[in-house]
Amino acid sequence: MALIKELTEIPSPSGDTEKIIKFIENLIRDWGYEIKRTRKGGLLISARGSDDTRHRFLTGHVDTLGAMVKEVKSNGRLKLSRIGGFNWNSAEGEYCEIHTSTGKVYTGTILMHQTSVHVYKNAGEAKRDDDNIEVRIDEKVENEKEVRELGIEVGDFVSFDPRPVITESGFIKSRHLDDKASVAILLRLLKQIKDEHITLPYTTHVLISNNEEIGYGGNSNIPEETVEYIAVDMGALGDGQSSDEYTVSICAKDSSGPYHYGLRRHLIDLAKENGIAYKVDIYPYYGSDASAAISAGHDIIHGLLGPGIESSHAFERTHETSILNTEKLLYAYVQSKMVTL
Ligand SMILES: [Zn+2]
Repeated sequence: MALIKELTEIPSPSGDTEKIIKFIENLIRDWGYEIKRTRKGGLLISARGSDDTRHRFLTGHVDTLGAMVKEVKSNGRLKLSRIGGFNWNSAEGEYCEIHTSTGKVYTGTILMHQTSVHVYKNAGEAKRDDDNIEVRIDEKVENEKEVRELGIEVGDFVSFDPRPVITESGFIKSRHLDDKASVAILLRLLKQIKDEHITLPYTTHVLISNNEEIGYGGNSNIPEETVEYIAVDMGALGDGQSSDEYTVSICAKDSSGPYHYGLRRHLIDLAKENGIAYKVDIYPYYGSDASAAISAGHDIIHGLLGPGIESSHAFERTHETSILNTEKLLYAYVQSKMVTL
């Protein structure tokens, strides 16, 4: 839980992930794995297994939703262009950071232009869209010139304050649990394999991907020998969904179509054998790095599982039991026999 919190506190909107990748690289440096930086900026971590002819591939993504400065407005505020899929109502009122290309960081707040109810009659009804949403910078600036003098320019990345809180009741609420909760789980799994001196049955790769929210995080850098590919990414909760904040969610189908049936059944069998609480679910508006890999033409069998995240791409929350059940399933999975033998 502490590692999840730490990861959420490192800003990493898709396109600006160098800092968090470096953090992870440093964390795992002495764990004895082969580590390779991909050209796209992700991290490929490999553990040689007893069988090196057929490989397994797991991925979680560290990139998150965020924004980019689209325009410096004449009133000294910033217009934004969104990175990733979310609605402005889920970021309205959020504190943010503007990261300039020269390395300066300014703070601000994401607001509707018509926020003050004492001035704007339609403050409640005005559309939450790219035109009305702007950043109020925490600097004494009143026009475009003064903002530009700070070094803020079109193209600067804007990250949202994650506000992580771990409660006594076992919840973690924070932005970007998608997918930093899964990344923390994967890192802990790697640590456990090392500490327990486990030799895996197959060579297994963990890709810390950094472009999932924009659709192409894990669709390349897949070793030729890869047979099974699992995206570890959140389960989506809501009306009619079976996923919850306490179990590991195993995805049967999302907008990209069904995930591999045999692999899904294998994951369910493992959960049953090991007393792991799980839910099988369908996510109606969802794609993953695994489905992106299939779309990119890779001849693999693909699966998707992860912790259940409430109010995804907005005010996210999950419980430690969901994290634990996901961890246990992955621990059993990496030591199990392959589906296609
Ligand atoms: Zn995700």
